[in-house]
Amino acid sequence: MVSDDRVVLVTGASRGIGRAAATQFAERGATVIVHYAVNEAAAKQTLTGLPGTGHLVMSADLTDADAVAELVAQVVAIRGRIDVLVNNAGIYEAHPVLSTGYDEWRESWRRTLETNLVGPANLIHEVVPHMVAQGGGRIVNVSSRGAFRGEPECPAYGASKAGLNSLGQSLAQALAPHGIYITTVAPGFVATDMAAEILDGPRGDGIRGQSPMQRVATADEIARVVVFLAEPGAETTTGAIVDVNGASYLRT
Ligand code: NAD
Repeated sequence: MVSDDRVVLVTGASRGIGRAAATQFAERGATVIVHYAVNEAAAKQTLTGLPGTGHLVMSADLTDADAVAELVAQVVAIRGRIDVLVNNAGIYEAHPVLSTGYDEWRESWRRTLETNLVGPANLIHEVVPHMVAQGGGRIVNVSSRGAFRGEPECPAYGASKAGLNSLGQSLAQALAPHGIYITTVAPGFVATDMAAEILDGPRGDGIRGQSPMQRVATADEIARVVVFLAEPGAETTTGAIVDVNGASYLRT
């Protein structure tokens, strides 16, 4: 196993893919900042499960630009550096175009874009000066198959993840000269709380059947790819968008 003494900030690590990534980074020896929005108890549960020492829990609403800046400042003040940023936190909410009122539609677009796209962009803005000063770093953004396949019930989600894909590509070009490498993971459906209602409902079997594997991914499977992309030796993956969808949607 690769020994890893880096400081890793994982957003939305109180559960799901974020918790799995936090755990896998810690298993490799990294010091992990378990970021959470509101559920402190769940974040502490993640923390308790992490091997090693020095890990921290920190909260910030990613739609609050000042809170994002404060989060980064706190991590640097306490741990002295940030080597890896995993932009994992996100929301997935339905707002079908034909049955959503105008106020609700606008609010859903605002919330989704601020959480899934502007929050990660702000976090990157605040983190990269520290990475430049350190001589480099890694950023892994968690996107979605929906950016490519479409999200008929959740169009703002699909658009936010398409934006996140583009953000990662542009900044991979801007930041490689500084030794900062940015990749994007695009999962299909994953068995987490976010997708539980859909996967446990009448659409569940159909969704599992989209993959020739006849199942969705686990959070651990997505986290393995996140950790791999941030590992030393994976530098030339910068700018890549990696599908992790069990061949449920193939693009060329
Ligand atoms: P999850 O709901 O379990 O976790 C998302 C986390 O984001 C939560 O901890 C939540 O508190 C946090 N979060 C939401 N809004 C926030 C805000 N304003 N500020 C701070 N934190 C906030 O979901 P998950 O399935 O683990 O999803 C993780 C990522 O993977 C998301 O970006 C999601 O879009 C993506 N993804 C998930 C699936 C899936 O099927 N579960 C599929 C493709 C992509």
